[in-house]
Amino acid sequence: MIGDRALRPATLMMGYGYDPVLSEGALKPPIFLTSTFAFPSAAEGKRFFEGITGKRPGGADGLVYSRFNGPNQEILEDRLALWDGAEEALVFSSGMSAIATLLLALCDKGDVIVHSGPLYAATEGFIARTLARFGVTYLDFPAGADRAEIAAVLARGQAMASAQGGKLALIYLESPANPTNALVDIEAVAAARDALGGEPAPIAIDNTFLGPLWQQPLHHGADVVIYSLTKYAGGHSDLVAGGLSGAKRWLDPVRMLRNTMGTICDPNTAWMLLRSLETVELRMTRSGENAAKVCAYLRDHPKVAGLGYLGMIADPRQQDIFARHCTGAGSTFSLFIKGGETESFRFLDALKVAKLAVSLGGTETLASHPAAMTHLSVPDARKAQLGITDNLVRISVGIEDPDDLIADFEQALAAV
Ligand SMILES: *Cc1c(COP(=O)(O)O)cnc(C)c1O
Repeated sequence: MIGDRALRPATLMMGYGYDPVLSEGALKPPIFLTSTFAFPSAAEGKRFFEGITGKRPGGADGLVYSRFNGPNQEILEDRLALWDGAEEALVFSSGMSAIATLLLALCDKGDVIVHSGPLYAATEGFIARTLARFGVTYLDFPAGADRAEIAAVLARGQAMASAQGGKLALIYLESPANPTNALVDIEAVAAARDALGGEPAPIAIDNTFLGPLWQQPLHHGADVVIYSLTKYAGGHSDLVAGGLSGAKRWLDPVRMLRNTMGTICDPNTAWMLLRSLETVELRMTRSGENAAKVCAYLRDHPKVAGLGYLGMIADPRQQDIFARHCTGAGSTFSLFIKGGETESFRFLDALKVAKLAVSLGGTETLASHPAAMTHLSVPDARKAQLGITDNLVRISVGIEDPDDLIADFEQALAAV
């Protein structure tokens, strides 16, 4: 705070949560490479352990052991929480370990998860196959569903749960969905959930594609926001990590399970993420501007059959969700080339600036072919239903010079 002015996250990323006096005056936090921490006294050690074991909820008052937490991770958690205005955050060794730890912590035998579809393939598999082995079942609704359709699936989920002796444990969303870019109406989900009655199930949402800059789901009724920090937050395609931000009430049991399993991110990765978060607003802003320019060029190109870009939504309902929930269109979009796999591969192989790789949200532009790569194992019928066609190329625009990117796409399309 300066007077009554609350400082913005972009400012706070440079120093929040770190006191140089505690580290020999080092302006930047050192990387704390230690497996364990010395207690000031036996009584303090006992007090710290009360926080670790859950005797007192909310985490430990002091550092104990690096499977539970460390200075780099704690600073990172404090800063990550700021972006979503969350009560707190937890960081993990990957996006998937954040998701798996969350799901295992909140779901019991007999419980039901209701989720939007499609989800990131590994998440969908974890819910459908791994959790099924522990007696947790699921129902889903399509990402673009309206409130009535969402309410009907939630009611079915609640009935199914009580028949199985469980509860509706979690409403799990991903918006925009990958690779369709379909948006979920978070406000409609929250309204439908609140109208159900009984103990409300938490709403968790994977915000990897638009967060933390362009969509802040906690303000629209979500309880927990999920990140693959590997993507825009890390932003340099040089680390793998995950994060959860939200209310203590839902994150306390997740922290307990993370303490047991050790799915926390390591100190070196946490330090790299502290550096990344200093530039996340700059990087995302530039890549968003670049994507807008690139898509404006691609839109009218004779070899382009269409674009799935949030800055050019045709469907009025999707446009309405975008207007209520999003402050930017992101930099990850779908490009439909006229033709099929042959034409798409020719385009991908001809790219000179953009790299041919899966993943997204890095400083460099990446391009991939979902049908042949990330979604290769998805059955054909499901692919058709999701619109994952052979002429779909997935692009994540980076922070290069936008005219260089346009020149690259121009010559690659000429090669088709
Ligand atoms: C990449 C990704 C994940 C998984 O994250 P990892 O860091 O690779 O484990 C989850 N959800 C979405 C939307 C992703 O893009």
